[in-house]
Amino acid sequence: MNFTTFSQFFVSAAEKNGIFIPNETQMQQFYRFTEHLLEVNSHTNLTAIREPIDIIDKHYIDSLLALHLIPKDARVLDLGCGPGFPSIPLAIMRSDLEITSLDSTAKKIDFVQKSAEILQLSNLKAVSGRAEDIKLRKTLGKYDIVISRAVARLNILCELCLPYLKIGGNLVALKGAKHKEEALEAISAINVLGGKVIKIEQKELITAQNQAETRGIVVIELQKEPPTQYPRAYAAILKKPL
Ligand code: SAH
Repeated sequence: MNFTTFSQFFVSAAEKNGIFIPNETQMQQFYRFTEHLLEVNSHTNLTAIREPIDIIDKHYIDSLLALHLIPKDARVLDLGCGPGFPSIPLAIMRSDLEITSLDSTAKKIDFVQKSAEILQLSNLKAVSGRAEDIKLRKTLGKYDIVISRAVARLNILCELCLPYLKIGGNLVALKGAKHKEEALEAISAINVLGGKVIKIEQKELITAQNQAETRGIVVIELQKEPPTQYPRAYAAILKKPL
């Protein structure tokens, strides 16, 4: 797909979904990132979504549905970023943010790091490690926003994410159609960890084929410091979720 066609699809998708339209430089970055993603994906499995038009909808627009929930100049952690979602689209659209992309799979982090270099995203650094590693948490410090898509059910995700927040900071959890059930299931975890659900936004993601897909964003504010025994080792979290 050439740049002009790519831009037309992107503008149309952004308009349908009420997303801020990228400027020329940002559009070039999305295009270059798509080329790089498809090239690396041809020999290293990073994503099952392989058509540029679907990448625009399911990776870029989907990631940007949360843009308005991130305050100016925020320090943001993308926990379990995979090949860079939502962090790369956010970094392209918001040069004011200071973003850390974290994943436990080194090959994904190498890809994100290399992409940030190619796109000259000086507002993003990629870190390889497990979220529940205490040493890593000490090194990374605290964040205004932790954002996460498709990593774990909300009760498990809260244990991984809330300890990274400053008091008053928000977890922005990008979820699918079952977001309300997940929020209910996570109530006890959220309470134990010192959080509070402050917003649930339901959205219909409109695809290029004009299909509506339900998405839900659950926003949880950290109100008091989580007890120091959390997060536990991952096996313990899975065995006995809060
Ligand atoms: N957020 C991306 C990737 C989702 S796949 C997207 O929406 O496309 C989930 C990712 O979370 C995987 O890449 C996996 O390696 C990472 N992950 C799972 N548990 C993790 C943990 N405890 N710490 C860090 N990364 C984790």
